[in-house]
Amino acid sequence: MRSPVSDYLEEVRGSCMDGGDEGQLASYIPELAAVDPDRFAIALCTVDGTVYAVGDVEQRFTIQSMSKPFAYALALADRGLAGVLEHVGVEPSGDAFNEISMEDDGRPRNPMVNIGAITTHALVGPPEATAEQSTARVIQGLSAFAGRQLEVDEQVFASERETADRNMALAYLVRAQGKLEDDPRDAVDGYTRQCSLQVDVRDLAVMAMTLASSGRNPVTGEQVVPAWVCRQVLSVMATCGMYDAAGDWMSNVGIPAKSGVSGGVLGALPGQVGIGVFSPRLDEFGNSVRAVRACERLSNDMGLHLMQAPEIASTVLHGVVEPDDDGDQLREVRLQGTMHFAAAEVALRQLEQVPEDAAPVVLDLTRVSSANDVGRRMLREGVRRLQLDGHQVRVDDPNGVLDD
Ligand code: GLN
Repeated sequence: MRSPVSDYLEEVRGSCMDGGDEGQLASYIPELAAVDPDRFAIALCTVDGTVYAVGDVEQRFTIQSMSKPFAYALALADRGLAGVLEHVGVEPSGDAFNEISMEDDGRPRNPMVNIGAITTHALVGPPEATAEQSTARVIQGLSAFAGRQLEVDEQVFASERETADRNMALAYLVRAQGKLEDDPRDAVDGYTRQCSLQVDVRDLAVMAMTLASSGRNPVTGEQVVPAWVCRQVLSVMATCGMYDAAGDWMSNVGIPAKSGVSGGVLGALPGQVGIGVFSPRLDEFGNSVRAVRACERLSNDMGLHLMQAPEIASTVLHGVVEPDDDGDQLREVRLQGTMHFAAAEVALRQLEQVPEDAAPVVLDLTRVSSANDVGRRMLREGVRRLQLDGHQVRVDDPNGVLDD
C-alpha cells in the first residue's frame, strides 16, 4: 500500500503553489539570490523517526536562522538556564530579525533575533572554550540534531561574511554592554558559519522532531540535549520564532517554529511531529511565503494547533467491580489509557469512594499504557492511602507503569 500521508503532502504542496511567484528572494546575502526560486519541498518526521518527504527533497540550502533554536539548546545544555539568561532574555521583540532588540539591562531580547543569536553562539561550550571551540561544538551539536554530519556552504559563508556589517555592529553593541563573551568579530564569524550549514527538508524535520521528542533524536536514538532544554527552546520558538509575525503565526498555525532567510521553516509540535518546509521566496517579515501557507494547511487539516485541547480524559475508568459476599471476587478498580494529571485525578476520585471496610482492593493497570511523573506519583499516593486506611492493595501492573 502506498501511504496516504505522502499523497496528502503532495496535494498540500500542489495547493500551496497557487499564487505563483509571490514574495522575494533574500538578496542582502548575495549568494542566497542565486537559488532557483521555484524549489519547494515538504517533510514530516514522526515520533518513531519515520520521515515523509515530497517535492525537491534532495535540494540543500543553508539553515540560516533555523539554526538559532539548536544553538540556544546547546548553550542551555552547556551553561544552564541561569547562565544563559544572564546574557540573553526570552521576551518577544516584535522587531525584525536584524533589529537592535535589547532589554534595558543591555541583554539581547531573545535568542531568535540576530543580536541574541550571535550572543548565544558564544555561550556554547564551557566558559573557557575559545571561539573556534564554540563553533566546532555548534557544528557537531547541530549535526547530532540532524543525525548526520552537516557541512558549511563555504560560498554562502564567504558571501555573508563580506556583507555582515550589521551583524558586526550588533555584536559590538552587546560586547559594549558586557554581555558578549567572545571578540565580536569571532562571534559573528562563528555565527555566520552556523547559519551556513547545509540542510535539506528531511534534516529540518528530524531536527524539529528531536526538539519535539524531549531532545532524543528519533532516528539515531541519541539524547542530544536534556528534556528541560527542549521545553525552554520550544517556548521561545513559540513566542519569538517567526519574528514580527510571531503572533499571527501562533494564532493561525499554533506550532513552535523557526524560519530562515534561505526560505525554510521548521515546526516542532511536542510529542507529535517535526515539520520541515523549503521554498525560497519570502514575505515582508522574511518568512517563506509557501512554507507559511503549507504550515497553515498542515496545522488546520491535521489538528496540530498547540492550543487546541486534546481529547478530554473521559475514558480513564475501564470499570469498577464490587466484591461478592463469598470473597471470590475482590473489589477492583480498572484503569485504562495514559496517566497524566487529569487522568490520575479521575482515578484517585474513584479510589476515594472505596469504603473504609478493610476489604482488599485490586488496582488493575493492565490497560494503562503509560504514566508521566505526576500521574505515577498520584497513583502511588492513592495506593499508600488505601493501605493507611487498612486495605490490602494488590496492584496489577504488567506494563510497569508505576515503576520509576
Ligand atoms: N545569517 C542570517 C543573518 O544573520 C540569518 C537571518 C535569517 O535567517 N533570518 O542575517
